[in-house]
Formats: sequence, C-alpha cells, structure tokens
Amino acid sequence: LTEPFLAAKEILDKIEQNNHQAFFVGGSVRDFLLNRSIGDIDIATSATPGLIKQIFDKVIPVGIEHGTVIVRHNKESYEVTTFRIDGDYSDKRHPDSVKFIDKIEKDLERRDFTINALAMDKNGTVIDLFDGKKDLQHSVIRTVGNGFERFTEDPLRIIRALRFSSQLGFTIDPETVVQMKEIKQEIDNLAIERITNEITKLFKGSFINIGIAYLKRTEVFKHLPVLRDHQHIIEHLPKSLKSLYSFGEVIALFNHIEPSIDAAFWVKDWKCSNRTKQEAIQLIEALRYFSANGLDSLLVYRLDPEYYHGFFRLSEILYPNNSAHIDGIEHLYKKLPILAKSDLAVRGNDIIDLFPNLNKGPWLQEIISKLEHEVVLGNLKNTKKDLKEWIKWNPPEIN
Ligand code: ATP
Ligand code: MG
Repeated sequence: LTEPFLAAKEILDKIEQNNHQAFFVGGSVRDFLLNRSIGDIDIATSATPGLIKQIFDKVIPVGIEHGTVIVRHNKESYEVTTFRIDGDYSDKRHPDSVKFIDKIEKDLERRDFTINALAMDKNGTVIDLFDGKKDLQHSVIRTVGNGFERFTEDPLRIIRALRFSSQLGFTIDPETVVQMKEIKQEIDNLAIERITNEITKLFKGSFINIGIAYLKRTEVFKHLPVLRDHQHIIEHLPKSLKSLYSFGEVIALFNHIEPSIDAAFWVKDWKCSNRTKQEAIQLIEALRYFSANGLDSLLVYRLDPEYYHGFFRLSEILYPNNSAHIDGIEHLYKKLPILAKSDLAVRGNDIIDLFPNLNKGPWLQEIISKLEHEVVLGNLKNTKKDLKEWIKWNPPEIN
C-alpha cells in the first residue's frame, strides 16, 4: 500500500479490531490500479453506521438511511458505507429502501461498472468478482451484470458510462453501448441535478473528445435538458474540445454555439445554482467582448478574477489560433489603474457639485461609467484634477 491508503488503513484496522470487515472500494481502488491520482477514499464495511459512530470520535451522519457516514481521521474525511443491497429506484432518484448485509459480495454486485466494483483490503489484496482488473487492463467500461437491467434500474448509469469514458479515455464495451442506446429514453425520468452533476464531470474529463463522441453516437444528448430541443448544439461543438472545469463554462460554450439561448434559460432547465448562473453570464459577456475587441484591460476589469482561467479555457477552444493567454490576462490585471468604481478619484458628490443646476438622474451613472472606461483603458489619468477636467469637456447629455 502507498499513501493515501496508508493513512486510511488505520480506519480499516480499527473496524477489524471490532470484529468487522472493511475494504477500500470504488473509484479509489480503480484509480490506484490505473496509477492515477486518487480522489476520495471510500470504505465499505460490515459494521452498521451505529457501530461506526461508537468506534470513531468524529463521525458525521451524511446519509445514515443509506448506510453512509463520514469519518474524520487525521484531518481527512472518509465515506464509510455499510455493505448493502439496494431496493428499487422507483422514483429514479434514490433507492426506495436499502438493506444492510454482512458480506461484501452482494455490495459489489450493486455497483455500476466492473472497474468500479473492485475492493481492496488493508494488505492491498484486491477482490475482483467481475473481471474488473481485466477491463482496466483493456480500458473497457462494462456494466456489472445485464446492462439492460442495470440501466433500467438506474438510468443515470448511462450518463456515468459517458462520464467515465471522458475521465479515463476508456472504450465502452460495444454491447454496453447498444444497451445504453436502447434504454436512453429512461433518462427523461431522472432528477435533473443528478444529470447535471455527471455532465459537468463529463466536460471536465481529460479525454473529453472521447466522451463527446459517445454522447453523439449513443444519442443520449437527445434526452438532456435544452439539448433535446436544440440538437444542432451538440452537432456544432468544436471538433477539438478541451476540458472545462464547471457547468458555468459549459453553458458559455453552448451559448457561443446558440446565442439565442441565454444563461438564465440553461440554468433553469438544468437546475443550476445562482453561482453557476453568475459565472455563465460573466463568461458569455467576456467572450462577446473578446470576439469584438480582443483582449484588453476593460475585459479583464469587468471579468471577476475567479473566472480568468475559465475564460482562458473557453478562448482556447473557440479561438485556437489567437486565444487569450492566461499570462496576458494576469499581466493586464496587475496593470489595472482601478479595480472598482470606488477607486475612481472622484465621488458621485464631486460630480453633482460640478452641475448644481441638474437634478439627480441616470446621467450621473453614465458619467461614472465613461470615466471607468477611459481610466481603465489608460486614456485618462485617475486624479481628481484630470477627471474633473474630462467631465467639463464631456458634460452630461440631457434630453
Ligand atoms: P470519482 O473518482 O469521479 O469520484 P467514483 O468511481 O468514486 O469516481 P462516485 O460517483 O464517487 O464515482 O461513486 C463511488 C462508487 O459508488 C462508484 O465507484 C460505484 O462503485 C458506486 N456507484 C456510484 N453511483 C452509482 C450508481 N448510480 N449505480 C451503481 N453504483 C454506483
Ligand atoms: Mg468518488
């Protein structure tokens, strides 16, 4: 075993000292065998959540009804889930019921793909009931058991197959592809949030072009919000995509292809957060400005610095020959004469005092906007004297 499993091994040891079994499971075992960097370590155990709470000091009950708790150990979090079998997914959201069991075999059988159904004990011995290691070697995604049944049971697995192909660069077993196509209309019944989560990961994958090729080939996009009514968007995606890190970036890409669908519409139908909405709106604005004016300090000034990298990624995809380089963006940021309106050397009251005969009105904001524009672009020095002088020569336009 290597880190981070060595740190997590102490949890397996402690559970075993309490006469229960515990294994590493799922993505961490898969990524370890692939020599990929390991994300979260998930643990499966025969101990019930109640017992786990007794054994460990810091336990957070995140999904007790599904047998999952988070154990905090040496400042790390581990998801610890009791071996279980799932009932039906009749609401297509969560299994109706779960039943705790005391052997790992049936727990592995409920998992989606052979490469995700591996378990590893504290000595590094792998339990591989469905030839998951062979599929890892051959880079194949294949369902555990009959794909028709497994996809019907939880149609999210169809989208997860696409997501893993994009993350790992794997082929989807041809029979599995046929089954995905056959069952894909069941996606319509899923909770949107689950779909959004998986599609975000699909676009983030290092092998996104493989993931998108499968998205097209399986015609799964015909069952995704908005895309089902605007199928040309997927057909018109750039030939060579690069990974995008958030759904806000994905919305900005889609909007570039179909400008008549705005960020608010995507956000509503994909049930995204307000944060995603703000991100998409900002990125769309910045891309529009970029296509008209190129990269300049006004673009950098208007875009929130937390979206610089996302804007850079999108510009690389959409303008591969003259993208906005991240160094260029950061250089312009460092040179910005002001970062906000409040940094202007004059205040609203200073401006009002210059025009004692004018009533309050939108003219004030218009002047402030123009000052911002001129100062940011370097046409005007940000001193009280220069700004006042400029205002005198460019008085408010009142109709
Ligand atoms: P990642 O590294 O992206 O987190 P992961 O394999 O850990 O990948 P998760 O979505 O975190 O993926 O799920 C953890 C494990 O739970 C999976 O490896 C799989 O065994 C099981 N699993 C998750 N979702 C499903 C599902 N819908 N149906 C069956 N098994 C699932
Ligand atoms: Mg995981």
